[in-house]
Amino acid sequence: MDMQVSLLDRLFESGLLIETGVDGLYGRSGQFEDVIAAFERLVDRFGSADGAEAIRFPPGMNMAYFEKSGYMKSFPQLAGTVHSFCGHDHDHMSLLKCMEEGGDWTKEQKSTDIALTPAACYPLYPTIAKRGPIAMTGGLYDLQSYCFRHEPSKDPARQQMFRMREYVCMGTEHHVTEFRQTWMDRGVEMMKLVGLDVEIDIANDPFFGRAGRLLANNQRDQNLKFELLIPVTSTANKTACMSFNYHQDAFGAKWDLNLEDGSVAHTACVGFGLERIALALFAHHGLDVALWPDAVRKTLWG
Ligand code: ATP
Ligand code: ZN
Ligand code: MG
Repeated sequence: MDMQVSLLDRLFESGLLIETGVDGLYGRSGQFEDVIAAFERLVDRFGSADGAEAIRFPPGMNMAYFEKSGYMKSFPQLAGTVHSFCGHDHDHMSLLKCMEEGGDWTKEQKSTDIALTPAACYPLYPTIAKRGPIAMTGGLYDLQSYCFRHEPSKDPARQQMFRMREYVCMGTEHHVTEFRQTWMDRGVEMMKLVGLDVEIDIANDPFFGRAGRLLANNQRDQNLKFELLIPVTSTANKTACMSFNYHQDAFGAKWDLNLEDGSVAHTACVGFGLERIALALFAHHGLDVALWPDAVRKTLWG
C-alpha cells in the first residue's frame, strides 16, 4: 500500500500524471502520452500483417447495446451512465436553487441514450452483427477506446478512465483460440523487447455478487481468461497489463453473429491496458525517459 501511494505521488511530482482531485481520474503529460503512442506503434508492428480492420469508437456507447450486453448483470458496480438536464426554464430555476443550497441537484438529471464504454470491444459486436454473416475466414478488428470503470483507487494502475487497445477475432473455435494464443506469445515477446518481466496466469472477471462467484469459477475452470502480469506497484501483487479472453459462442449467440455456413461465431479479444503498460515502464526504468536503457528506447522510438 505504501509503495502504491509513493508511486502515485512520484508520478504527480514528476508531472507525468496530473491530479484532478478524484482518485483514478488523472491528466497525462505529453511525455506520458508519447510513451503510450510509441507502445501502440509497437503493437501495430506486431499486428499489422494480420490485416485487422481498424475502428475507433468514442468512449460512450449506445445505451440499448449496453443494456443488451448484460453488463449490469455481471458488473453493476463498475458501470457508468450519462445523465443530463432535460428540463425547461422552471426546472432550471429549481436546479440552480438546489445547487446553491448544496442539495443533490443530480437527482433530477435524466438518463441519456449513452453509457460509458466499459471495454473497447463492447460497441463492436452489434456493429458487426448488423453487417450480416461473417466470412468463413473470420473477422479481425483493431480497436482503441477510453473506458470507464467505477473503481476509485490510490493505485495509479487502477484508474476510472483509461485506454484499452484491443484486437477482436470472430470465427470458428479453432480460429479464435489460435488468435488468442498468437497474441499471448506476442505479448510476452513485446514486453521482453521493452525490458519488462512478465508472467502469464489464468484469471477471472470480478462478476458481481453470489451468483457471480459461480461465473468466475466457471471462467477459470474453462481457461477462458488469461492475464499478462507485470510488477508495477508491488512485486508480490503484479498488475494485469494485458488480458486474453475467449468468449466461446456466448457473444456470437447474444448478438446474432453468424458465419457464412450458418453456425454461431466464436469470439475472442485481447486487450492492452495502455496506462498500465506505460506505468510499468516508468516504474521499472525510472520516471526520466532519457535514462531508460538504450535497447528499450530503440524499440520504442527507433
Ligand atoms: P483487473 O483484474 O486488474 O481489474 P480486469 O480483469 O478487470 O483487470 P480487463 O477487463 O481484462 O481487466 O481489461 C483489459 C485490460 O485493461 C486489463 O488487462 C488492464 O491492463 C486494463 N485495465 C482494466 N481495468 C483497468 C483500470 N481500472 N485502470 C487501468 N487499466 C485497466
Ligand atoms: Zn474485449
Ligand atoms: Mg477489473
